Amino acid sequence: MESRYTPAEIEAKWQQQWAEWGADTTSEDPKKPKFYALSMFPYPSGNLHMGHVRNYTITDAIARLKRMQGYRVLHPMGWDAFGLPAENAAIDRGIPPAKWTYENMAQMKGQLQQLGLSIDWDREVATCSPDYYKWTQWLFLQFFQAGLAYQKESAVNWDPIDQTVLANEQVDGEGRSWRSGAKVERKLLRQWFLKITDYADQLLADLDKLEGWPDRVKLMQANWIGKSVGAYLEFPVVGMDEKIAVFTTRPDTVYGVSYVVLAPEHPLTPKVTTRDRAAAVDAFIQEISAESEIDRTAEDKPKRGIPTGGKAINPFNGEEIPIWIADYVLYEYGTGAVMGVPAHDTRDFAFATQQKLPIKTVIIPAGGDASQPLEAAYTEPGIMVNSGPFDGTPSVDGKQGVIDLAEEKGYGKARVQYRLRDWLISRQRYWGAPIPIIHCPSCGAVAVPDVDLPVQLPEQVEFSGRGPSPLAKIEDWVNVPCPSCGEPAKRETDTMDTFIDSSWYFLRYTNANNAGEAFAKEKVDDWMAVDQYVGGIEHAILHLLYSRFFTKVLRDRGLHSCDEPFQRLLTQGMVQAVTYKNPWTDKYIPAAEMASETPDASLAGVTEKEFTLINPKTGKLFPSTDKKLDLANPTDPSTGDPLQIFKDPETGDPLRVFYEKMSKSKYNGVDPKAVLAKYGADTARMFILFKAPPEKDLEWGDADVEGQFRFLNRVWRLVEEFAKNSAKKKQKSGKKLSKEEKDLRRAIHTAIKEVSEDLEGDYQFNTAISELMKLSNALNDSKSTDSPVYREGIETLLILLAPFAPHLAEELWHTLGHSDSIHQQSWLAHDPAALEVDEITLVVQVMGKKRDLIQVPAGASKEELEKFAREAEKVQPFLDGKEIKKVIVVPGKLVNFVVSK
Ligand SMILES: [Zn+2]
Repeated sequence: MESRYTPAEIEAKWQQQWAEWGADTTSEDPKKPKFYALSMFPYPSGNLHMGHVRNYTITDAIARLKRMQGYRVLHPMGWDAFGLPAENAAIDRGIPPAKWTYENMAQMKGQLQQLGLSIDWDREVATCSPDYYKWTQWLFLQFFQAGLAYQKESAVNWDPIDQTVLANEQVDGEGRSWRSGAKVERKLLRQWFLKITDYADQLLADLDKLEGWPDRVKLMQANWIGKSVGAYLEFPVVGMDEKIAVFTTRPDTVYGVSYVVLAPEHPLTPKVTTRDRAAAVDAFIQEISAESEIDRTAEDKPKRGIPTGGKAINPFNGEEIPIWIADYVLYEYGTGAVMGVPAHDTRDFAFATQQKLPIKTVIIPAGGDASQPLEAAYTEPGIMVNSGPFDGTPSVDGKQGVIDLAEEKGYGKARVQYRLRDWLISRQRYWGAPIPIIHCPSCGAVAVPDVDLPVQLPEQVEFSGRGPSPLAKIEDWVNVPCPSCGEPAKRETDTMDTFIDSSWYFLRYTNANNAGEAFAKEKVDDWMAVDQYVGGIEHAILHLLYSRFFTKVLRDRGLHSCDEPFQRLLTQGMVQAVTYKNPWTDKYIPAAEMASETPDASLAGVTEKEFTLINPKTGKLFPSTDKKLDLANPTDPSTGDPLQIFKDPETGDPLRVFYEKMSKSKYNGVDPKAVLAKYGADTARMFILFKAPPEKDLEWGDADVEGQFRFLNRVWRLVEEFAKNSAKKKQKSGKKLSKEEKDLRRAIHTAIKEVSEDLEGDYQFNTAISELMKLSNALNDSKSTDSPVYREGIETLLILLAPFAPHLAEELWHTLGHSDSIHQQSWLAHDPAALEVDEITLVVQVMGKKRDLIQVPAGASKEELEKFAREAEKVQPFLDGKEIKKVIVVPGKLVNFVVSK
C-alpha cells in the first residue's frame, strides 16, 4: 500500500536523525574549499516571524547546495541578545532581562529547528552571555589602546522614551529613534565614541572591492560617508585675534561671500557677540537648543538666524562681513561655521533673501550679465566675475586657483571632508556590555585589566525605567579601587551600543567555543570573509558599516588578515500580505472579518478616495480609479463578470485592498507556526523560494502555498509509485536508448543544467523550482518507467530538490533504497551529449498537403532530407506515376513535393 505524504511525521523524524548523525557539524577537511554562509542573527524577541523564515530559508538552501557542490560549509546561528526590549520587559513585568532573553532564545531555537535548517548549533553564540561579552569588552579595549575609543562632551541625540542616547545612524530621516519612534532631542552629555572617521577613506574606497553587493547598498554607504573635496578657509574676526574656519566645496565663489554663520554652540559665538546683541543671541540659543538636528537642517523648513553684531574679514577681497548664528549650522559637522554665498547656493539665497543680506554675483553663465539681480541662486559652473585676479576665469579652473592662492597667502588650504561622524557608543541602560573602564580622580580613564574581564552585569538590579542607568545606583558595583594607583575610583556605568556586539559575531563563529581568545587568528583567516551574507536592507548602513569598520581596525591590530567581512551580500525583500484599509478613516480591518459583497448602492459618486473592487470568480483586483471601470455598474472589463467590494463592517465604506509588509498593527501577519503545522517546513520553504526572486518583495498567497504542497505531493506519489513498480518488475538494461528514453534523458539533463545555472551567483530559486516542476511533469508523462533512464530521472529530481525541500528529498531517497543521506550526495553535472537533439521529426508534404511524418537525423543535409522524404512509406501512393516537378526543402522542418497533375 502506498503511504501518504505526512510532513509532520517525516520532518520530525529526519531532524532527529540528522542531529544523531551530526549532519550539520562544520567540516574542517582542509582538502575542501571553504564556504561561509551567514544569515544576520536575530534579536530574541520570542517569536519567529515570516521575515526570519525567508531570510534563513534562503541561506539554508545556499548552504545545502554548497555542501553538495563539495565545499566545507560554515553555517552558524546565534542571538543578538542585548538590547532594550529585555529591559522593558523587566520594567513592565518584573522579569529579569537575562531570564526573559534566554527563554525567548530557547523558544525561537525550537522554531528554527522545525524549519530543517542545516545550522551547526555547536557554534551558537549569544551576545549577552559573559563568555561572549568578555571579548566584546576586550575588543573595546583594543580600540581604547589604539586611541580609537575616546570620551567627549557632545550634543547628542536623546531618546526621551528609551531614556538613552542614540548614534546618528539610529535616527531616521524624520528625526525619530529607530527603535522607540520617539522624536529625538538634543542634550549635552559626556559620552564614549569610536573613531570611525579615521577609517572614512578606507570604508569609502573599499566599497569598490565589494562586487557581490547590491549597488544601492554601496551607494547608501557612500552617501553616508559623504566625501567632499574642497577648501578649508579662515576668516579673521575684526578686532580680535580669532579666525572663523569654514569648509567649502565651492572655493570659486569666495569673492561672493556676504556673511559668515556660526553654529549657535560654536565657542566663538559668545566672543564675537556684541554687548547690545547679547540678550537676543542668548534667547535665540535657548530657543533652538531643544530642537533636533533633523528639524534644524530639514530642507523644507525656513532657516532661522540672527546677527551677533560681530564682523569678519573676507581675506580675499578685504571686505568686512557680518557674523550671524543660525539653526541650520551644526557644531558637530565640519568646522561648525559656514560662509554665506547667496548668489551661488540655494540655501544661502533663501536665507539672505529672508534676512535682507546682500547678494553678490561672482559667477555668470557665458554671455551672462552680472549686474542683473538674480531670481534664484546660480549654482552651475560659469565665468568668474567680481573676483579680483580671477575675473574671466572659468569657475571649474578657479576652484584650484583660489585654493592655490589661499595656500600661498596663508588664508587656508585644500581639504577633503567627510559627512561621517564618530560613532557614539554610550548607552545609559542596563542590558548591554558594560564599558570596561574605571574613572580615577588621579589617573583618569583606566582600562580594566584583561585578567579582570568580563566586567559582569550585576544581577540584583531594580528597574524603574526612569533616571540614570540602573548600574549607576549599585554602589558596591560602581565603587572600586583604581587598577593603576589603587585609590578609590568609579566604574563607567554606561553600557555599549548593541551594534558593537554584532560588529564581530561573524568572527566569533569561526571558533565559537574559544575560551582563551576572542578568536584564533588562523581560524578567522581560514573562514573569513563570509562568502554569502543574507539579511535585511534596513542594515544597509548601521550594521554593515560598523562591521566593516571593526574588521579593518582588528586587522590593523594584527588580530586577523581580512580586509572586508562580507564578500557577497543578498538583501532579501520583505514578506508582504494583503491588508484591508478604510481610506476614509485610515483604519485597518482584520482579514478574517473580510468577505467581498455586491455593493448595495451605486458607487458612481464615490470618487474622492481610491478603493478596490474584486472579480469574485477570478480573484482579480481593480482600483476604483481604473478608467476602464464603470462605477455605476462595475464589471470586469475582460470577462464581463460583476465586480464586488469589501466593506468596512462598522461604517460600510468600501475598502482599499493592497499588499504591505506583514505586521500586527495591520492585521496581516501570517504566523509561521500555523503554516508549519498545516503544511510542514518543506512546503513553507518551497513557497518562499518559489514565489519571488530572493531580493524582491514577496506577496503571501495561500493559494500559492497550497500549490507548492500539491507539487510536493506529486513528487511523493511519483517516487512511491516508481519504488513500488521497480520492486515488482525487472528493469530493462543494456539496450540502445529509444527515442522516448532519449527525450526523457534530455529533460533530465536540461533540468540539471538550468537549475545549476539558476543557483550560480544570484540564486534565482524561483526559476530553479520551475525547472524541477518541468522535470516532474516529464517523468509523470513518460512511458519508459521501467528504463534505467527513468530511475536516473527520479534520483536527479530528488537530488536537485534536496536544498529546497530537505526532509521530503531525504525520505524519498531512502524510499528508493539508499541508506546514506541525500545531503551527502554530490551535486550533478549535466551531460552535454544528452542535450543534443539527434533526431527530428520531418513533415513530408505532397502539393502542400501533409502525407507523412518521419524521424530523420538532426544533422541531415538538404539532399539527404529529400532522399528520406522520397522513401517515406505513406508518401508513395501520392508520388506513384507522377512526375516530380519541384522539391522544396525547409531544413529541420519539412519537404514538399510539387508533382504533375
Ligand atoms: Zn588611579
